Amino acid sequence: MNPTRVLVLNSGSSSVKYQLLDMADGSRPASGLVERIGEGPVPDHTAALRQVADELRERGMGLDSPELAAVGHRVVHGGTKFTEPTLITDEVVASIEGLVPLAPLHNPANVTGIKVARELRPDLPQVAVFDTAFHSTMPESAARYAIDVETADRYDVRRYGFHGTSHAYVSRAAAGLLDRDLAGLNTIVLHLGNGASASAIEGGVCVDTSMGLTPLEGLVMGTRSGDLDPAIVFHLARVGGMSMDEVDTLLNKKSGLLGLCGDNDMREIGRRMGEGDRAAELAFEIYIHRLRKYVGAYTAVLGRVDAIVFTAGVGENSAAVREAALRGLTGLGIELDGVRNTLRSGSARIISAQSSRVAVAVIPTDEELEIATQTYALVRA
Ligand code: ADP
Repeated sequence: MNPTRVLVLNSGSSSVKYQLLDMADGSRPASGLVERIGEGPVPDHTAALRQVADELRERGMGLDSPELAAVGHRVVHGGTKFTEPTLITDEVVASIEGLVPLAPLHNPANVTGIKVARELRPDLPQVAVFDTAFHSTMPESAARYAIDVETADRYDVRRYGFHGTSHAYVSRAAAGLLDRDLAGLNTIVLHLGNGASASAIEGGVCVDTSMGLTPLEGLVMGTRSGDLDPAIVFHLARVGGMSMDEVDTLLNKKSGLLGLCGDNDMREIGRRMGEGDRAAELAFEIYIHRLRKYVGAYTAVLGRVDAIVFTAGVGENSAAVREAALRGLTGLGIELDGVRNTLRSGSARIISAQSSRVAVAVIPTDEELEIATQTYALVRA
């Protein structure tokens, strides 16, 4: 019997998430989360990964189980080197470590996950699936910043994009939901979670995305500012006397919705808006304004848009965000159905009006399934 299970590991900056997927029957026999790494009983990522391995073993699904075909690791930054899911070797690990300067918060945690899993099962195929990979098809016109080319190349400064597994999964699922051929479908995907990004996808190929060198660029997020005038950084340093680390923390951790109104959870912001809270209203308006700008920009980038898809925590759950983001865009062929938009559901669904030229959909993202699918395809090949 061939092994059909894939363990997906997402070893993040402060937590490790895992899911065991059976690719033969689509079942998910185990999943879990180890949180607050470094804060209490779990001192570091190595301890967290060992806890995951113990949990799996206690349930009879340990890393040594013969049903396990591979481990799929989520890796945030693949730079320009990794544009495909990649079978992990010592060399690959070294290359991912070499990309730490581009993702100092994420890649080290990803690498630890890989190292511990390889120690526990040296003989098992392990695959790295990169958050940046799906965006590697962006043309130079979208991927390059308009700065001195030599400087940019020397320091690997370019737009990489993130949330790639989600954008890939959701755009493919959209073709399925709409019963359309992926190759002929132009889609704008709005991944709105705590982190948020938009992408323009032409026939399944990413041609632009809102995150850049790091996940800081683009949309207003839970705690990140998204787009701003880069001179703000010089201004805060020169006039405000802030250090680079302080500005980094400000823009990544204390900005976005949190910086604007003190809350980064859209549910809480909605509740406060219901009470007439002006700061919450303004935060929402700024969030929506940025989102609309990207919808407009990507409409122009694609020329013809067939579908707009909302996904992730906010995109899947907030009818208010979806309605405000697309209000008054009938001129662009975009028309929501008020009833469909507000129906609560956990399934992929169309929320546009019958008369809308552009289909609008909500599709729950499934990064674990996408990582498992890519991992399994590679090890079976
Ligand atoms: P992450 O980027 O952490 O993976 P998620 O995709 O899980 O984020 O999204 C988390 C966010 O989703 C929360 O911060 C919250 O603002 C939002 N969210 C979850 N449920 C709802 C809801 N019912 N209404 C509005 N926003 C929601």
